[in-house]
Amino acid sequence: MKSDGPHDAARREAIRRLLVLAPVLACGFGAAADMSTAVTSDDTSLRARKLHFSSLVIDTHADTTQRFLGGQFAGDGSFHPNLEFDFAARDARGNIDIPRMREGGLGAIFFSIWIPSKIKGPAAVARALEQIAAVHEQVRRHPADLAFATTAAEIRAAHTQHKIAALIGVEGGHMINSDLGVLRHFAALGARYMTLTHTGNVEWADSSGATPVHNGLAPFGREVIREMNRLGMMVDISHVSDKTFYDVLAVSQAPLLASHSSCRGICDAPRNMTDDMIKALAAKGGVIQINYHVAFLSQEFRDAEKKDPQINKSIEAEVFKLCGDNEACELIEGDRLTREYVQRGKLPRVEWSKIIEHIDHAVQLVGAEHVGLGSDFDGANMPYGMEDVTQIPKITEALLRKGYSEDDVKKILGENTLRVMAEVERVGRARTAAPQ
Ligand SMILES: [Zn+2]
Repeated sequence: MKSDGPHDAARREAIRRLLVLAPVLACGFGAAADMSTAVTSDDTSLRARKLHFSSLVIDTHADTTQRFLGGQFAGDGSFHPNLEFDFAARDARGNIDIPRMREGGLGAIFFSIWIPSKIKGPAAVARALEQIAAVHEQVRRHPADLAFATTAAEIRAAHTQHKIAALIGVEGGHMINSDLGVLRHFAALGARYMTLTHTGNVEWADSSGATPVHNGLAPFGREVIREMNRLGMMVDISHVSDKTFYDVLAVSQAPLLASHSSCRGICDAPRNMTDDMIKALAAKGGVIQINYHVAFLSQEFRDAEKKDPQINKSIEAEVFKLCGDNEACELIEGDRLTREYVQRGKLPRVEWSKIIEHIDHAVQLVGAEHVGLGSDFDGANMPYGMEDVTQIPKITEALLRKGYSEDDVKKILGENTLRVMAEVERVGRARTAAPQ
């Protein structure tokens, strides 16, 4: 589609018309100017498309990595661990692939390196390394679409070249096996954040998903934070307990990232951040990246789950029957089966506009400089209207309709993440230069 031949004027016009309905068509980031001829939309939606497709849009958390490691759904919906997932093909399953990232105007994505908390020791390190290699392999296979990035400047450079920046975040400190050498190795391989815990405690920090055993951050955890500061890796406090969060905030020399967390002021999931935590995070320059998972967005959904715990158990049992212990399959089937329960009236329907409520809640608390997007795509249950990454331009439009300035929307879409990254890099350089 990116032809520049002499007979392209008519073709461009045809494409321009198509763009009203399908704004990507491989024109990717250059599509903004073509939006101007859309006649079916009002001024705000045109302004939103223009703004969205000219902004650097960053998602700091997607679990698509699991899919790279093998396993694919056949036409009949059955899962085959030996079939390969083609990231460059538009897929009906899951939330993310290259064509759909283009269509949604996504400029950078952090691929999560994740394994369940129960896997520990050298096995956890080995599996993390395998996933890191899988991300690099996707970048190698799709050089026209993806560029590996480790710094804010590299994200901007990828964007200038109309490529999607691919980054790595390690989700769970259990993968370093209490070894700073492993942490350094992950950093050398390009990991640019580490979520300190997943749903289980690690040897040196408490998670929000488990009974506390360390009273927050243990002494070795403080060393981990200091080393991450030195390495220029963002410290991600999504998933940690409230006490761990405040301990980390006190130790870290650099602003913190909550790569995929929503607001507890709206939905009381312990994984979400309280208003006080969001204020404390922002006061030290950090950013909360709003998570789209229905059970973190909606109190009604969370209450329904709590009222009838059997529902989640049934979903888990059905997922296990379909997927065994293949995590890529589990994540996607969990989302699909949850939808089935919603359709059968067993769980409440959550609309995508809840995402906007959470963004606005955080912005009202701390301003637009400290809020961003961390979808949890391919790792969570998406609300209606946010079925995949193609839907994210709606966020831009909704914020404009709420009266947000274009500048503030750009910050939320990606500039805040870039600012935090650049600051973390600066702290890393300063600490490396200073005598230890
Ligand atoms: Zn997570």
